[in-house]
Amino acid sequence: MNYDVIVVGGGHAGVEASLSSARMGNKTLMVSMLAENVGATSCNPAVGGLAKGHLVRELDALGGQMGLITDEAGIQFRILNQTKGPAVRGSRAQIDMDKYRVIARNVVLNTPNLELVQEMVESLVIEDKTVVGVKTDLGNEYSAKKVIITSGTFLNGIIHIGEVQKPAGRFGEERSVGLSDSLRNDCELTVERLKTGTCARVDSSSIDFSVMEEQGGDELPSPFSFRTNREEFRANKKQLPCYIAYTNETTHEIIESNFYRAPLFTGQIEGNSPRYCPSIEDKVDKFRDKDRHHLFIEPQTMDNTECYINGMSTSMPPEVQRQMIASVKGMENAKIVRYGYAIEYDFVDPRELRHTLETKKISGLYLAGQINGTTGYEEAAAQGLMAGINASLSIQDKEPLILRRDEAYIGVLIDDLVTKGTKEPYRMFTSRAEYRLLLREESADTRLSRYGHDLGLINDDLYEAVKLKDTQIKAGAQLLEDTKFTPNKEFIAKLEAMNEQPIKDISTAQQLVARKTFDVAKMLQIVPELAQYNDYIREEILVEGKYARYIDKQSEEIQRMKKYLKVAIPEGFDFKSISGLSREVVEKLEAFNPPTLQAAMNISGITPAAIEIIHVYMRIAKKKEKMHT
Ligand code: FAD
Repeated sequence: MNYDVIVVGGGHAGVEASLSSARMGNKTLMVSMLAENVGATSCNPAVGGLAKGHLVRELDALGGQMGLITDEAGIQFRILNQTKGPAVRGSRAQIDMDKYRVIARNVVLNTPNLELVQEMVESLVIEDKTVVGVKTDLGNEYSAKKVIITSGTFLNGIIHIGEVQKPAGRFGEERSVGLSDSLRNDCELTVERLKTGTCARVDSSSIDFSVMEEQGGDELPSPFSFRTNREEFRANKKQLPCYIAYTNETTHEIIESNFYRAPLFTGQIEGNSPRYCPSIEDKVDKFRDKDRHHLFIEPQTMDNTECYINGMSTSMPPEVQRQMIASVKGMENAKIVRYGYAIEYDFVDPRELRHTLETKKISGLYLAGQINGTTGYEEAAAQGLMAGINASLSIQDKEPLILRRDEAYIGVLIDDLVTKGTKEPYRMFTSRAEYRLLLREESADTRLSRYGHDLGLINDDLYEAVKLKDTQIKAGAQLLEDTKFTPNKEFIAKLEAMNEQPIKDISTAQQLVARKTFDVAKMLQIVPELAQYNDYIREEILVEGKYARYIDKQSEEIQRMKKYLKVAIPEGFDFKSISGLSREVVEKLEAFNPPTLQAAMNISGITPAAIEIIHVYMRIAKKKEKMHT
């Protein structure tokens, strides 16, 4: 009954937390309410997407499991935003939900140092502001040096379907009781309420797909994990299509005429909902000018017996859900297998946490996943991995691993949560990252594998392969750069031939290289030496070569910021006089009176943008002062 680390919960955060802890040599126990559902995907049958794909690639580079399971369980792979810049492309995979769950549970059960037990943790054992163990509903008491809680949507969960309310952690699963009180009373943490929702699932054989638009996967699918063999994956991966359908005016009329029965509007639901993943009733209410909304009909498994109606999350009463679905072209005869529902649950204000995800008030207690106010499998998994790593490093008496905002989306995610907190379910977006160009999906391994290797989560062979990739890309990009900046006639002549128009000077030639239309084939004509590299490396060379200047600019900006963070803020500085700062920022700065910009940056809710404004203002003020003396 004695462990180094106990992980409460077996969702995406719990799986990554317990695997990383066990792999880092700790005797680890995962306590989860239903062993069957370890690794279960509660909502959509998909992993990744814009910015979420970045999180999975980073997690993979650090030695996490989600990318590998997705590659095995995936049934459709697409890179979103293909036509946009490389920084905002995102990998997304439809997954076979059943397969995903079974693989995840089996990995947990087959990992040395890791045990799984099916019980509900009801309270934490705290001594001198330090967690020393957990007590379960079966009367068992387990002790540990560190406890990581990853309870997802289960804490005091209540499900809503129309007027029906049921206590549950997920449909058909018991909710978690007791633990929330222990967090609130024994640990004195701020516990609040949030809401999320899911759509109905329908029997695939009852849908007329012939009247819908088919959306297949990429012709050359790309795996999520840097550890999956790309060629073998492409040769063997079987993919299923999704279908696009639309709501229409009738659907909207049905929804609107039943607003008075929607738990979201009747006051039945109190927790805040995810702003960026709204229910269909919310969309119809907020976007009244729209006469239709997209729906993506997604297979839940490889045998495609049930479909998920992405875009129609709802907590409307069952009979309204039946009418709504039947109003969609192709779904007139759809048979609902599971009704959509909303769930309200307790979460802990993430400002209670340090950047290591350890609580500030209780030593040794870490929180990860939806309990920290996030939504999404990827956000949960990323936090789980970091909590597992930091709990292990703390046991080993080593420095924690805190990823910076300019280093990883995971760094942005955790920094946002612990400094700013959240009032609605937080999901990752590329726009949340200031240094997007530095944080491309494809560079996750070259950015982060060294940490995974140092932690023992990435093996030597893989790390050597990452180093080789990095060397090849840098060498190739340098070759392209040298060609671009050497004004030789041959280079211009080749570009002229490609573009079928005269090029008057070298700078026009350089601009052409930076254009979207300049592809790998064109690059090879100009720099034939790059033929020595494989397709994947050539793609990366092209991106590095095209964006080198912007990447350098972002790197310089980071260096500049590092320097100016040391700048002192004069005593009694009048923050109110800076017009670009919000009232919230001014109030916080006045309350804390930070002595340097670095100290200001460490205050919860103070953004890098606010720091930049203060810095510029102080410089101007200094100049003016000099002029007057
Ligand atoms: P979960 O996956 O919820 O796992 C929690 C685990 O903890 C479970 O294994 C549970 O058994 C265990 N547990 C809880 N309490 C205890 C206890 N006291 N003792 C032992 N074990 C315990 N994400 C999106 O990205 N988009 C969406 O639209 C979306 N909609 C959702 C709709 C619904 C209805 C639900 C339920 C979830 C939705 N999600 C959505 C969220 C997504 O499922 C979660 O973000 C993700 O699964 C969170 O991972 P987690 O590991 O934090 O928790």
